[in-house]
Amino acid sequence: MSRHCAKPTCDNLAAATLSYQYETATVWVEHLHIDGHPMTHDICLRHADAMVVPKGWTLEDQRHAAPARTAGALPGPLQQAS
Ligand SMILES: [Zn+2]
Repeated sequence: MSRHCAKPTCDNLAAATLSYQYETATVWVEHLHIDGHPMTHDICLRHADAMVVPKGWTLEDQRHAAPARTAGALPGPLQQAS
């Protein structure tokens, strides 16, 4: 199954998954999730690399994070909600 970029004017294949947590004003860019989720957005590599977050927000690009740091637990707001 392939998915496409969520940007309206873009029909590239999705290469990353974008998610938000408003409480901490954080945007995550992660490797494309296998399953789509209604609270995340799939975007292509070009839009992932060009991602700009609003003033006061933090961009966490998990695609380059060291795997050991998150071993055993998936990063991202969906798993950290409490
Ligand atoms: Zn795109």
